[in-house]
Amino acid sequence: MRCPYCKYDESRVIDTSHDTRGGVRRRRECEKCGQRFSTYERPILATPLIVKQDGTREEFDHEKLSRGIRIACAKRPVPAADVDRLVGEIEATLQAMGRAEVSSRVVGDMVIAGLKEMDQIAYIRYAIVYLGLDDLRSIRKEIDRLLEG
Ligand SMILES: [Zn+2]
Repeated sequence: MRCPYCKYDESRVIDTSHDTRGGVRRRRECEKCGQRFSTYERPILATPLIVKQDGTREEFDHEKLSRGIRIACAKRPVPAADVDRLVGEIEATLQAMGRAEVSSRVVGDMVIAGLKEMDQIAYIRYAIVYLGLDDLRSIRKEIDRLLEG
């Protein structure tokens, strides 16, 4: 670890402590100038890359996903906080998977499942786009499934 005072590259760890959130604090002493400083490491859960249907990969984009869901919820009695919570839950689920990559279908399915419980109209709107329901017959089939379930 580089010394913040003299920029020398070597330092000695003189004390290590762990906190309850998995972080590690280290007291260090520069081997050249003798100044002491601390470093703090904490684990950051990685969100898997999203593999799109055309095979390209992109970073999970919290804001973009929220936007898509908010559009589906336009003029519906769905609080913005609920949309944020859904996106947060989806991101946490993706992180818990511990995988490097996840298909965009997995994300879409989680949105669909979440919206189905939140608001059926928003769900149908999202499903029309996401499931590519491009004719009235397939949309009706989806609505029938909702009415039965
Ligand atoms: Zn130094």
